[in-house]
Amino acid sequence: MPLPIVAIIGRPNVGKSTVVNRLAGVQEAIVYDEPGVTRDRTYKPAYWRDREFMVVDTGGLVFDDDTEFLPLIREQALTALAEASAAIFIVDGMTGPTGGDLEIAEWLRQQPVPVLVAVNKCESVEHGIMQAMEFWELGLGEPYPVSGIHGSGTGDLLDELLKLLPPQEDLVESDEIKVAIAGRPNVGKSSLLNAFVGSNRAIVSPISGTTRDAIDTLVERDGKTYRLIDTAGIRKKKSVEYGPEFFGINRAFKAIARADVVLFVLDAIDGVTEQDQKLAGRIEEEGRACVLIINKWDAIEKDNETIYEYERDIRSRLHFVDWAEMIFISAKTGQRVEKILDLVNVGAEQHRRRVTTSVINEVLEDAISWHTPPTTRGGRQGKIYYGTQVSTQPPSIALFVNDPDLFSDGYRRYIERQFRQSLGFTGTPLRLFWRGKK
Ligand code: GDP
Ligand code: GDP
Repeated sequence: MPLPIVAIIGRPNVGKSTVVNRLAGVQEAIVYDEPGVTRDRTYKPAYWRDREFMVVDTGGLVFDDDTEFLPLIREQALTALAEASAAIFIVDGMTGPTGGDLEIAEWLRQQPVPVLVAVNKCESVEHGIMQAMEFWELGLGEPYPVSGIHGSGTGDLLDELLKLLPPQEDLVESDEIKVAIAGRPNVGKSSLLNAFVGSNRAIVSPISGTTRDAIDTLVERDGKTYRLIDTAGIRKKKSVEYGPEFFGINRAFKAIARADVVLFVLDAIDGVTEQDQKLAGRIEEEGRACVLIINKWDAIEKDNETIYEYERDIRSRLHFVDWAEMIFISAKTGQRVEKILDLVNVGAEQHRRRVTTSVINEVLEDAISWHTPPTTRGGRQGKIYYGTQVSTQPPSIALFVNDPDLFSDGYRRYIERQFRQSLGFTGTPLRLFWRGKK
């Protein structure tokens, strides 16, 4: 789900950009807009308490019919409002309500978006409240005195704003973790399922999944619920009820698409095959968290080095999922089967994780100072203005840059490595979007 958008509306010179920069906490060095683009809508990431959202400055709104740009300005404001969850109408506390403010207020009342009135330039507390009172006249509810320059009053305004944003996806969604067991035929998926269900007592009876014929199994442990997806597809291939295509690759792909975490089962005896590599690519492509399960560990003759040799070998052949944790188990003896859910928990948590914009930009600044973006042969250098996490499951970070073409694959991988080194994201893919200015 994309971040909610908050539109900033108001006449020219009331302090919209000052307030936006204050809300977005944008440091001077990474201000996104430059002269010449101020009439465009500019989106800035902002956060308050545990919520992130985007602020869009609509440019100065005027209803004066003499204005040459009037239709354009109105259209921009309307476009911004159409996608916004809420609007902040900024007015100038020093001038008091003007005719222009009343016109905008009347127009805003007709829009299907909740509006908060921020009375800017209210530096002095007592005086500010008096200044703000005058704006009850706009008929848009309680006016909030703020100072874009000093930052005062913005906390109350933002508390109110959070109430208007749609509920956060992570909170709405149940904390059930959806798990798919995937792997080539005969690697031991159904054996694992049995071992798994056997070692985790409280089983809720199988329940129907969303796809036809898919039966899910619910397992509980430590108060958490795990939905094992399409267990009918894993069990009992001998059954005459199902045709051969029932166990096909499509079925596995569907299960992966529905999962939070994929248990990717490999056969220690066979090692990594080409089919395994394809499946790894698919898991990464679908953006699912993943745990690598190396099964049949009981059947391997080992010394102290064996596990490391296996790990190195498997990693070198499965780079699509080189971020996944690996566990060596035996479905047959039950060895380490119980530890699997611990890794599932880590993967699911990281998959849903949200990192604040300030932390992301700290990592970026650090990464850039160690290793500046290379200059191309044409003498142009890539610049990263800022980054912000735009969604979860998997965590996706947008990087706003001067021109994405200036960043080589090597440099992109370097930045991704820095994010992983500083922030972890163990067990989950991480998406980076390199966005240029239009
Ligand atoms: P915009 O055209 O609405 O984006 O307004 P700006 O942010 O460019 O601000 C217009 C003018 O108001 C500038 O001279 C700012 O310095 C001033 N201004 C902005 N915020 C405040 C504030 O909180 N207090 C005071 N006293 N002046 C402010
Ligand atoms: P599936 O096709 O992936 O569901 O694989 P199965 O669970 O049906 O297992 C395929 C074969 O591997 C069966 O003969 C199992 O007995 C055997 N197998 C499964 N897990 C293990 C294990 O941990 N160790 C050993 N030695 N054999 C196993």
